[in-house]
Amino acid sequence: MSVARIPSSGASVLAPPDDMLDRLSHPVVVFDRDGEIVHANACANAMLGRAVVGLAFADLFPEHREPFERLTDSAKPLVLATRGGVRYRAWLGPSVQAERALSLFPDDADDVTSAVDEDELTGLLKRNGLNDRLTQALALVAEGGAEVAVHCIDLDRFKIVNDTLGHGVGDLLLRKVADRIRAACRKEDCVARIGGDEFVVVQTGIADVADAKRLATRLVDLIGRTYVLGGHTVNIAASVGVAVSAPGEGARDVLRNGDLALYEAKRAGRARFRVFEAGMDAALRSRRELEIDLRRALALKQFSVHYQPFVDLRTDEVIGFEALIRWDHPTRGRVSPADFIPLAEETGLITKIGEWVLRTACQTAMSWPNAMTVAVNISPVQFRADTLVETVLSALAQAGLPAGRLEIEITEGALLENTGDVLKTLHALRDLGLKISMDDFGTGYSSLSYLQKFPFNKIKIDRSFVQGADEGGESEAILKAIAGLGLSLGMAITAEGVETAEQLARIRGEQCTHVQGYFTGRPMPADGISSFLST
Ligand code: C2E
Ligand code: MG
Ligand code: MG
Repeated sequence: MSVARIPSSGASVLAPPDDMLDRLSHPVVVFDRDGEIVHANACANAMLGRAVVGLAFADLFPEHREPFERLTDSAKPLVLATRGGVRYRAWLGPSVQAERALSLFPDDADDVTSAVDEDELTGLLKRNGLNDRLTQALALVAEGGAEVAVHCIDLDRFKIVNDTLGHGVGDLLLRKVADRIRAACRKEDCVARIGGDEFVVVQTGIADVADAKRLATRLVDLIGRTYVLGGHTVNIAASVGVAVSAPGEGARDVLRNGDLALYEAKRAGRARFRVFEAGMDAALRSRRELEIDLRRALALKQFSVHYQPFVDLRTDEVIGFEALIRWDHPTRGRVSPADFIPLAEETGLITKIGEWVLRTACQTAMSWPNAMTVAVNISPVQFRADTLVETVLSALAQAGLPAGRLEIEITEGALLENTGDVLKTLHALRDLGLKISMDDFGTGYSSLSYLQKFPFNKIKIDRSFVQGADEGGESEAILKAIAGLGLSLGMAITAEGVETAEQLARIRGEQCTHVQGYFTGRPMPADGISSFLST
């Protein structure tokens, strides 16, 4: 039974509309400031066996010694009292303006008891308890109380900690995370753990969305700080999806919106929060449709591979081509890889698509003259599959292409997680005789350290620096620095995205060894290559 307490004096009394309270699936009793029942919903009257309006808190729970006024918040039951042979547990609910509410549940009713059971590990509420508390909080909002925000929290990299350091450390970590979440919240907020590493905070009594953003910022910051657990230093991060309740929304709606916002936060790069916006719904739907089309694209032969030449600046000759996938969709037209590769990665489809590109590219390269190189982009997700080396061997064998003619391009993303395993795979590929390039260099955040970890054959400087260098300043300085670094590490340097003769001239001055860009050749279909090479 929820026991809400509202001001009793004059016009400030905000009696909730009867029908709204009656719709709630659990008993609600509303007390005024003095602890007298001013309203009870149908469910409460049924449970208590009579109309209880007019009774006082003390009448209802005569054995409970603590006065109504002195009850304070906790995730643990505050009141254990009996009435009519039924034990009740009480939780302090969300506040309505300055006032507070209590939730009471019969202790012995199995369904209700389990519904409010705590999570053993963290002492937080579980999903059912969360739903109840949120439903109540929303009822009070409908009544004219301050708004409620939901924060859906998901830990990034928790699984890695669990897998590498063991469940003991994983449990310890979850407990610490729970502590930090509680520390970030006010007492009257409700915190729940609804899955392995998923938490939800119900923030009550917020004035506006800025209040919610402040808490979300605090959550991301606090959870993201370093943990020391049984001698291990552990770093994880939290993504948070925030949804502020809107009129007429139930607990399910708000939680769903929070979830959508969480999804957006993760897509935006994790370790951050996003606030739900109405457009996210539509964005998700269109993403789903794209995913459905993408799943069919391979079977329907909608993919092709285009090839962009790269030129050796010492000889001014084309020495190879980069394979770039193209998707021609019957109604969408040509979809850019920048738009569908991330989706293919999220859905795992990239493993199959990437393998198809690899096999196609190896076969195509067999017809090129002068033992030209073919460069293939490999997604970080393909590295995680741990069949990459076999797939590469099989593609080479199937085409009859010598390993020395295949170059693999990876981005820093591949080295972010499970670095040790990825390095092992990279070494295995190199031992086969492949060349390995670091692609889009300079766009990540820890590029330099990766150059020490693996002897890349080539660094491809991202086109933003090549093009930004037109204006001089920072880009030019970075370009110079990277080229110098490559030289001293004995790595070849490709400048990407060279579009003009001026850019090409500058690149030559910067000790770059290779160039790739529209100026020296756009990506072209396989059957355009021989005429391109003969001009
Ligand atoms: P990337 O690997 O850095 O490839 C270079 C991209 O820059 C290509 O875009 C290419 O068309 C474009 N480009 C080349 N020269 C110029 C230039 O002078 N100016 C401008 N503005 N752009 C230039 P594209 O083909 O749209 O591919 C985008 C990205 O998608 C690629 O970047 C790569 O990361 C990814 N991608 C493409 N194909 C595959 C694939 O088969 N597998 C995987 N995993 N990723 C791929
Ligand atoms: Mg590339
Ligand atoms: Mg690139």
